[in-house]
Amino acid sequence: MLIAKPKLSALPAMLYHPCYSELNLPDRHRYPIAKYRTLYQRLLDIGLPESAFTLSVPVTAEQLAEVHCRAYIQSLADGTIAAKAMRRIGFPWSKQLFERSLCSLGGTLQTAQAALNSGIALHLSGGYHHAFYAEGSGFCLFNDLVVAAKAMLTQGLDKILLLDLDVHQGDGSALLLADEPRIISCSVHCEKNFPSRKQHSDWDIGLAIDCSDTDYLQAVQQSLQTLLNWHRPDLVIFDAGVDIHQQDELGLLNISTGALYQRDLLVLQSCVEQGIPVAAVIGGGYQRNIDALVQLHLQLFKAAFTLHGSDFAGKIET
Ligand SMILES: [Zn+2]
Repeated sequence: MLIAKPKLSALPAMLYHPCYSELNLPDRHRYPIAKYRTLYQRLLDIGLPESAFTLSVPVTAEQLAEVHCRAYIQSLADGTIAAKAMRRIGFPWSKQLFERSLCSLGGTLQTAQAALNSGIALHLSGGYHHAFYAEGSGFCLFNDLVVAAKAMLTQGLDKILLLDLDVHQGDGSALLLADEPRIISCSVHCEKNFPSRKQHSDWDIGLAIDCSDTDYLQAVQQSLQTLLNWHRPDLVIFDAGVDIHQQDELGLLNISTGALYQRDLLVLQSCVEQGIPVAAVIGGGYQRNIDALVQLHLQLFKAAFTLHGSDFAGKIET
């Protein structure tokens, strides 16, 4: 489908909901649940008005059932899911967890829709790429990336690139999209990291632990250019996980903050230059120090503000 080249507005569209950080977890739980609220607050602190953000709304049961097994959805809705299955997800079950997940899925879908108008759209959540058809894994209940991409196909798009640059392989996305040629799955990840059993994406690059900034950026650039040229997608959905960073507690790679910013700028700029809308989600990132972690997620916003010619770019340090 031919889509009019989006003109960049004053700011990228941004999606958020306070429920992203509203989840009661046991003390010392690995998941940095406060990062969403802190990221939002930091964006307000640099002067962005609350009106710059759109509130996410939950996905519908039908949109969810396009990707996930109804019995699995029901077991998470009513808490009848097996304890072992919840352990694989890594969170204790709660209604709050289920509802937060639906809202986050809706946010990624709205981000994809908003990108068609604003050129770049950013979600202050998302990237639940380890969720499979009938089971969750690695802090992921449902796969927002695939739910959003499939919903966008029903809205008239012909081809979508799912560019997953989180340090962990997008195994759930790869398997869910194995028989869907209209959505291209690409994962550039650390080969030695979780998940131990990798799935086959349409394009996989498994990086070595000692990969340098230069090698990393080259792998991203070559993958992106090749896939954009081959497939000419109508939309790119970008998982901008920051767990590639050298300070990440689960990442294993050794990528600097400067290279992280360069990666995000490279992806967004390549899409903008080719007139392809890009919807980015913040993806993974694991540090006990939430302020340090959020500073990394802010690099995506700095890159987007730079391309939009916004003064807010200068208010975020690299
Ligand atoms: Zn990750």
